Amino acid sequence: MTDAEAKARIAFLVAEINRHDRLYYVEAKPVIGDRDYDILYEELLRLERDWPQFRDPDSPTQRVSGAPTSAFAQVRHDPPMQSLDKTHAKGELAEFDAFVRKTVSGFTYLVEPKVDGVSISLRYEGRRLVRAATRGNGIVGDDVTVNVRTIRSVPLSLPDSAPDVLEVRGEVYMTRDGFAALNSREEAEGREAFANPRNACAGSLKQLDPKVTASRPLDIVIYNAGGEGCDGFARHSEMVTAFKKWGFPVAPWSRACATIDKVYAAIDELESLRHTFRFEIDGAVVKIDERGLYEVLGATAHGPRWARAYKYAPERAETVVESITVQVGRTGILTPVAELKPTELAGSTISRATLHNADQIARQDIRVGDHVWLVKAGDVIPAVESVMTEKRTGAERIFEMPLACPVCGGEVRRNDGEVAVRCVNPACPAQLARRVEHFASRDALDLRALGETVVEAMVAEKMISDPLDLFSVRVVDLYALDISGHRFGKNAQTVMDALKAARELPLHRWLYAVGIPNVGVTVAKSIAAEHEKFSDLADSPVLKNVLANDELKGRERKILAIKAEAARAVLSFFASDYGRSFLSRMAELGIDPIAEKTAPVASTGPLAGAGCVLTGALSRPRGEYAKLIERAGGVIQSAVTKKTRYLIAGENVGATKTEKARALGTEVIDEARLLAMLAESGT
Ligand code: AMP
Ligand code: ZN
Repeated sequence: MTDAEAKARIAFLVAEINRHDRLYYVEAKPVIGDRDYDILYEELLRLERDWPQFRDPDSPTQRVSGAPTSAFAQVRHDPPMQSLDKTHAKGELAEFDAFVRKTVSGFTYLVEPKVDGVSISLRYEGRRLVRAATRGNGIVGDDVTVNVRTIRSVPLSLPDSAPDVLEVRGEVYMTRDGFAALNSREEAEGREAFANPRNACAGSLKQLDPKVTASRPLDIVIYNAGGEGCDGFARHSEMVTAFKKWGFPVAPWSRACATIDKVYAAIDELESLRHTFRFEIDGAVVKIDERGLYEVLGATAHGPRWARAYKYAPERAETVVESITVQVGRTGILTPVAELKPTELAGSTISRATLHNADQIARQDIRVGDHVWLVKAGDVIPAVESVMTEKRTGAERIFEMPLACPVCGGEVRRNDGEVAVRCVNPACPAQLARRVEHFASRDALDLRALGETVVEAMVAEKMISDPLDLFSVRVVDLYALDISGHRFGKNAQTVMDALKAARELPLHRWLYAVGIPNVGVTVAKSIAAEHEKFSDLADSPVLKNVLANDELKGRERKILAIKAEAARAVLSFFASDYGRSFLSRMAELGIDPIAEKTAPVASTGPLAGAGCVLTGALSRPRGEYAKLIERAGGVIQSAVTKKTRYLIAGENVGATKTEKARALGTEVIDEARLLAMLAESGT
């Protein structure tokens, strides 16, 4: 490949990957699969490594850039980033309407969701992202550019149709699903859980190491002009349409309303949709659409006079903490749980809420017998918001964390830097039961018949002392197992059948089943994709390589911070005494799960075993052809050698190149011929 070709190819790949990122992260309409995306991404990484002089600083491979810092630079906002005046009742909105009507005429209202995140300003110069800043006190905020760059839906560069200099404002948020997953991960690692998605988001943006931010599920919505570049729009709604065209994510819902009554209806409609968005909303924002009227309407020190926030009443319910129990998790972490008087909240009946840890209980001063307000953090996780101290009678009891494991009576310890207390007894039956439950869960080995009570009974009867012992359990013992006064009976056979099927499950299911920290379903899949079988993991060159070369990679493996952590965790699991004995038990049982193959590779047909080089402009992405050729049994090469059977030449391929290929005995074919061969191969 010549310099000019490399440069052109890199530019093509950057544009192509940016396009796919936008389709995936902004429009949620991906047109290629993860595997094809990874092929493009890896080709770009390779070319950028070989031709560093052509590496674009805004290449998708450069989202995590820069070393950890010790402090954030300060950024002055011009104009200031204002807040919004808030209303909590429709009557107050009527006053707003009266004020607007008295001052101007010929206007339309716009109702938008009030996204509950962290406000942010993005500045582009020469259509490239040059700065991202938090609101701070509205006048001066923190420069968080390196962190915001890691958010995949934030465009690093803008299309030519966008103004040269542009500042837009919006909200960074943590997705609700992402928040729940992050919190369970934090807790499983013994760290403090976040109170809500907004705190988790703010904390993620304030990380000094951008790799940590990159590992957090953040997203963005743009809804405001910053100043420069937004002058030409007569209407706010037109501006938002332009934002969208330029590649920014915008809110998926808004309503134009001619009258204040229509505004009320829109606010009610939005409230009914409240839990359907990817972000949490805490209300609606009512704006005037005609931007020409903003100057006349003016602003107060607090916020513009042409907009109002309408806050929804927080969804919360009163209940009573009847007791506080302590659960022992898979890794031994002791978690206090509030057992509540069952109550309805945001569509479900809630009778328990995690209290996270003893520090948290002390901070909130939650006592047994307290009347409390219950909320749903991130719209999903029930949480005690606050204690109604005015309802205390004096009969409430202060909770104390047990000094020994409530299940096995073993020693508990608190590691340095952790909030969690752990039972350190490796034989703790509670830990074992949780581990077996995980082993049997749907995404792991899917042993449906093994519910919590069955597992607990098996552990109590000492039928098993390790998840792998399930494979040695005798059907007669299982048949006779006493489950709260009943025999397990016929269900024993169902379990046996499921265990038999589990032996044949693919690598990623087993890897996940082991329950290694940092190895969730997605990570297990991406690790499995790079290995052949379970026994290859222990000494895996791929995993060692990840650790040695902590570089950002493809979309599903985008968060290298996690991948390196996961690689380390897998390697140290297999290096541990337990990991080694697990592996030899697997060998004794004759189980060595193999990775699922994506698609069978053809061993006959015109391309089987043929070395192929793709060159020139083709009508489809090269990665796509590479995949099809590989499936047809061909081998993709980067340059023509004596082993190359076909040079597939697209448009604009120089004669010297094709002549050189022919001299080496390579057949030069065009795209049409390739397609014919692929068809013949049946791929
Ligand atoms: P608060 O943070 O409660 O003072 O509310 C004001 C803030 O709401 C603004 O500064 C924005 O950060 C945020 N906000 C969220 N969604 C919107 C929206 N659609 N339009 C304007 N501001 C919004
Ligand atoms: Zn224990």
